Amino acid sequence: MLRYLDNSDQGDGNDFDLEKTYKEKIANLETRIAYLERIAKVSQILNSTLELAPLLKIISQAGIELTQTEGCSILLYDETSGQLKFMPSTFSTDENVGIPIENSIAGLVFQKVKPILIRDVKEDPRWNNRVDQVSDFETHSILGVPLKIKYEVIGVMELVNKTDENGFSDDDFQRATTLAAQAAVAIENARLWKDVQQAYDELAELDRLKSDFVSIASHELRTPLAVILGYASFLRDEVSEEGTEQLEMVLSSAIKLRNLIDDMVNLRHVKNDDIQLEFSIFSMRDLIKEVLLEFQTLIEAKSLRVKVQLYEGYDDLVNIEADRQKIYLIVANLISNAIKFTDENGFVLISLGRHGEEIHLQVADTGIGIPKERTRKIFEAFYQVERVLTRRFGGMGLGLPIVKGMVEVHKGKITVDSIEGRGSQFTVMLPLSPGLIY
Ligand code: ADP
Repeated sequence: MLRYLDNSDQGDGNDFDLEKTYKEKIANLETRIAYLERIAKVSQILNSTLELAPLLKIISQAGIELTQTEGCSILLYDETSGQLKFMPSTFSTDENVGIPIENSIAGLVFQKVKPILIRDVKEDPRWNNRVDQVSDFETHSILGVPLKIKYEVIGVMELVNKTDENGFSDDDFQRATTLAAQAAVAIENARLWKDVQQAYDELAELDRLKSDFVSIASHELRTPLAVILGYASFLRDEVSEEGTEQLEMVLSSAIKLRNLIDDMVNLRHVKNDDIQLEFSIFSMRDLIKEVLLEFQTLIEAKSLRVKVQLYEGYDDLVNIEADRQKIYLIVANLISNAIKFTDENGFVLISLGRHGEEIHLQVADTGIGIPKERTRKIFEAFYQVERVLTRRFGGMGLGLPIVKGMVEVHKGKITVDSIEGRGSQFTVMLPLSPGLIY
């Protein structure tokens, strides 16, 4: 009985201790779960923004909350000054306050790449109280953790003034380190994103300047050129035999210039998406004949063989309903390129086929071809495969972007197949009645 009582007494004591331990353990686990939930949430929030300023604010707030401190500042390494710069955070500091790496608490964390705890900053000679002066804040204790991505340290996070009188705990170290690891990645992503945006803005500005220049130049050049063309043709008809040859040269150069200006204007329309279409029904085959007539002299000068071939399914009765002038531009540009980039005695094959409700036009040549990795680029404005200094062929790199634009407003597609040194084949697929497609 006694033994029993003894045992039961002892047992009661054990049960009580055990219950206490369990309760403590459960409470502990609950705190950890709450912390893990919070850190998961913070991580989610950190990943949701790429704007640096709000991101820094979120990190600071999370730092304060997770470690129960009065403030959290973020210092990022600034390459230009070689200092750690305070980022605007929960308590207002001047954004430009810089802390030297040497002889400072933040600098030590940065150099050692380890968390450092300073229980009383006033006792520490490395403490720089300028920050307190400018921010109207009184610092007592600091837990500094490095902001590290893989092997690179990008800055330091400082958790300031632990509110609990027992000071910073091991848990605080762990929480601060976990947060710092996530924060560093988020900060780096935001900075990279800012760089990308900046580069993009600069490019967009350059593109705008280029477009403005093209549009002003083409506009300003048109009027005087029209005068030159007008007077030159008038004089050619008036002057005697000797002057005709020179005037023909003036005229043909002026026409070349006008074509160039027309290209610039066309490209502007393509870019601005403001091409107006005037539909008519016409024969593609006749149009090709017309284009070939225009290039007859060039074809003969290079002794090229040119053949027009009709595929099965295509006959003279097939007409297309489209903007004839713009389709002419497409065909003329493709044939002109085929002629330009094919050596003497080469071969140019123009084929027409009908596939259901589409016309397929192919312009193939046995010319110099295009390197595979460049085929996508040739449709960009001002792009030429040959670099400016070494190129043998004239042109401005405007033809294909215009062709692509004109094909697309007709709801068609253009593709290219090419083998460098062997030749190229451009295929244009156009609906027979683009006006009926929505
Ligand atoms: P341009 O002919 O005025 O240079 P394009 O926009 O028509 O401009 O063509 C862009 C570039 O694509 C050309 O400079 C050339 O490098 C390449 N290219 C176009 N067509 C051909 C072709 N048939 N054969 C080889 N290269 C071509």
